Amino acid sequence: MKINQALADLPAGYLFAEIAKRVKEYSANNPQADILRLGIGDVTRPLVPAVVEAMKQAADEMGTPEGFHGYGPDFGYDFLINAIIAGDYLSRGVEIAFDEVFISDGAKSDVGNLQELFGNDAKIAVTDPVYPVYVDSNAMAGRLGKYENGKWSGLTYLPCNAENGFVPPLPPQRVDVVYLCYPNNPTGTVLTREQLQKFVDWALENDALIVYDAAYKAFITDPAIPRSIFEIPGAKKCAMECCSFSKTAGFTGTRCAYTVVPKELVFSGVSLNRMWGRRQATKFNGVSYPVQRAAQAVYSPEGQRQIMENILYYQENARVIREGLTAAGIQTFGGVHAPYIWMKTPKGLSGWDFFDLLLNKAHVVGTPGEGFGPSGAGYFRLTAFNTLEKTREAVQRIIQAL
Ligand code: PLP
Repeated sequence: MKINQALADLPAGYLFAEIAKRVKEYSANNPQADILRLGIGDVTRPLVPAVVEAMKQAADEMGTPEGFHGYGPDFGYDFLINAIIAGDYLSRGVEIAFDEVFISDGAKSDVGNLQELFGNDAKIAVTDPVYPVYVDSNAMAGRLGKYENGKWSGLTYLPCNAENGFVPPLPPQRVDVVYLCYPNNPTGTVLTREQLQKFVDWALENDALIVYDAAYKAFITDPAIPRSIFEIPGAKKCAMECCSFSKTAGFTGTRCAYTVVPKELVFSGVSLNRMWGRRQATKFNGVSYPVQRAAQAVYSPEGQRQIMENILYYQENARVIREGLTAAGIQTFGGVHAPYIWMKTPKGLSGWDFFDLLLNKAHVVGTPGEGFGPSGAGYFRLTAFNTLEKTREAVQRIIQAL
């Protein structure tokens, strides 16, 4: 059997394993240390009552002859697709057709799977630092060349740093696909309408695809910041968009997401909407009925009010981190429209040295920027997903440690 050598050669998922190892070692040697975790990328607030009630009702239905549901429609139930179109798009003046929405079990699966739409030799660009799934999933397909000195030889990196205000440059050479994620993980920054328009115009001129990951769109507080790439004129001809209930409504353990593939999206004369439908219908059997009912409840008036309370809670944590560190003279970025705060490490320390310093002196865990790509070096990510009390305590400890 010939194995997939690209997958076999993929460097091990080093970042979180290394963090866990260092924390475990430290805890073993310092059992009295009360370690506070601001490294987690997972939500912590429970599901809201409207969601729980809808899930329970649907579970009860499933136990009756009239309410039982077997395999659902390939691309999701009508009730959820219609709720998404009304709640996330029409409400912002964007028209999306019913058959352009594909319900799935996660934005992670979708961003990984959708590269089955690309040719094996398609050229890829990512912003740097980046959510590692875009890179690793393309590396598994053998599309990125060799991994040397922390970089893939065949990948185009679009550096985002304090100097360029975390606004990625347009790809300097021919690429077929650009992955954009806004609000951004890990930097927590956003792009304005004008900045996104430049990417859309570039993609249209260059016959390229934008894969837009809007997993954190619920955190956007300023109505002027686009929540969807489809708010940008021309985007339906060059972009597909992955969204998720994970961060919007705490579904990280419940699993529900959706991807929008417009019918205008045509490359080499072929509709990506048709290709994606064909792919999903073959390889995916849908999200369970109770979970789709639970996701629908996110759009009810009570659901909206309740999920906003949780988002406001995380936003307050982000504010505490951002303002606390800034007042202490630390340069921070993001954290306004996102649950992530990206900070420059003091005294030019590497992300890993700063990680060790915080662990040793403050008993606080964050994530070294190096784990998100070469341009993450010398930066550090803190997240707003702990409790408010622990977040406040962690910020005080960081300030004291510095
Ligand atoms: N996209 C980004 C940018 C993320 O940071 C994450 C999770 O952390 C995901 C997608 C995963 O979303 P899901 O839980 O829907 O798979």
